[in-house]
Amino acid sequence: MTKPAILWFRQDLRLADNPALTDAIENEKAVVPVYIYAPEEDDGWPPGSATKWWLHHSLQALSDELEEHNSYLVIRSGDSLAQLQTIIKRTGADTLLFNKRYEPEAHEIEEKITAKLSKSGIIVRSFNGSLMREPGLIRNKEGKSFKVFTAYWRNCLAANQPRQPLPAPKSIKTFKDRPESIALEQLALEPKIKWAKGISEAWQPGSKGVHKSLKHLTESVIHDYGDSRNRPDQNGVSRFSPHLHFGEVSPNMIWHVVSEALRTTSSAKTKTNASIYLKEIGWREFAYDLLVNFPYSTNEPLYEDYANFPFLKDAHALKAWQKGLTGYPMVDAGMRELWHTGWMHNRVRMIVGSFLVKDLLLPWQVGAKWFWDTLVDADLASNTMGWQWVAGCGADAAPYFRIFNPISQGAKFDPDGKYVRKWVPELAKVPTKYIHSPWLASKDELRQAGVELGKDYPLPIVDHAFARTRALAALKEAKSKI
Ligand SMILES: Cc1cc2nc3c(=O)[nH]c(=O)nc-3n(C[C@H](O)[C@H](O)[C@H](O)COP(=O)(O)OP(=O)(O)OC[C@H]3O[C@@H](n4cnc5c(N)ncnc54)[C@H](O)[C@@H]3O)c2cc1C
Repeated sequence: MTKPAILWFRQDLRLADNPALTDAIENEKAVVPVYIYAPEEDDGWPPGSATKWWLHHSLQALSDELEEHNSYLVIRSGDSLAQLQTIIKRTGADTLLFNKRYEPEAHEIEEKITAKLSKSGIIVRSFNGSLMREPGLIRNKEGKSFKVFTAYWRNCLAANQPRQPLPAPKSIKTFKDRPESIALEQLALEPKIKWAKGISEAWQPGSKGVHKSLKHLTESVIHDYGDSRNRPDQNGVSRFSPHLHFGEVSPNMIWHVVSEALRTTSSAKTKTNASIYLKEIGWREFAYDLLVNFPYSTNEPLYEDYANFPFLKDAHALKAWQKGLTGYPMVDAGMRELWHTGWMHNRVRMIVGSFLVKDLLLPWQVGAKWFWDTLVDADLASNTMGWQWVAGCGADAAPYFRIFNPISQGAKFDPDGKYVRKWVPELAKVPTKYIHSPWLASKDELRQAGVELGKDYPLPIVDHAFARTRALAALKEAKSKI
């Protein structure tokens, strides 16, 4: 009897377009599907609460799908190498197959495991299942990596097309003598208190959720993405980010679905919008390129000019930001959407991020940590790039003096206040004219809307004009120390 292969699931919790699984099928190997929960192998960024919730449900969905294929999922926790060695001993497996992770430490651990097991005679094959291109491949003429997206993306488009997705397996040859597995519940990923109700109402992890998002993408999003992607009051984005993070869908699958729509549509508008969407997927690739090339950027500014920035320590302000009680409706709506659903619209991520760093002068790392704990799509590459961008110290950074104004951003991207009214219901009856700056309404107008500022809803925690001047002065001070 030929020996089985261990199929080690990483951040690729899917069966379709799974290069490691396809390799097993092509080589007619029986597989032992395994997932190992190893939070201490996560680059010092162990999974946050929202991530854990998603992981629980994603593993459940994967396990169900494997069972539909007369297979199973072995769940273990602890040191990955030790667990793999135990399973190899137990099953007699001679091969390890997996799709790589690209976070620096997680990748380093994979390399160590590969070296150690290869030395003991195990065949180890690893694949790229989560990015369209291996990070580090796209370089400029001097052979250096890019720090600017537009140049990076131009070079990506000039390179080969991303590979075609691999078909989902019809059947999976599985090693019959299933090794011991712990129950999913033993990982204790779900919160003990009923904190995740809003998240579970908003999301469906696993391939069923992926299909819903794909439908929304092709039937709606790509026809108007250029305009609606900036509108948190509309349903104009694909909400693929958590599915992509956990590898329930691959970027190649999305790329080819959208490319096909772009190729076959006769609508010039759809063609334009589909191209814009493809470029956004490119930002995710760019984030991984940056993470691999500049691993220190998860904690330190990409550009060291910003290392001396005189940030403040203000626990009260931080709490107000986290709870959505800053007195700026657009900021508060975003922070409450995040808490309630584990996700926030990209435009609003930029607004709340700018507010934390520039209006409150709190370190971007503090914001990144809060997002890490509360986002269902928390991703080391994209979160790092997003926060560095917002703070003005990262790739393609907006100049520091470009400070988002939460009032005018609200008026532009939530013109009727629909988004604010949904997430800050105490302002639901405030006239549209004042929805992004309720303190400008008269006492009478507020009374009619049923709001008393300072009681039902806070007064602004800081004056934006003052905060802007203060932020510019702080930058000048930091620059003078270089
Ligand atoms: C401060 C800050 C923190 C962020 N943290 C994360 C994070 O932890 N995880 C995460 O996935 N995204 C993060 N983003 C990027 C972006 O906000 C989300 O990817 C996007 O909102 C997800 O929604 P969507 O899937 O509907 O996006 P769509 O607009 O439908 O875009 C499709 C896909 O393109 C990719 N994408 C789009 N915009 C970006 C971007 N700016 N950066 C990287 N990828 C992008 C995502 O994979 C996304 O799912 C962050 C942005 C900011 C400003």
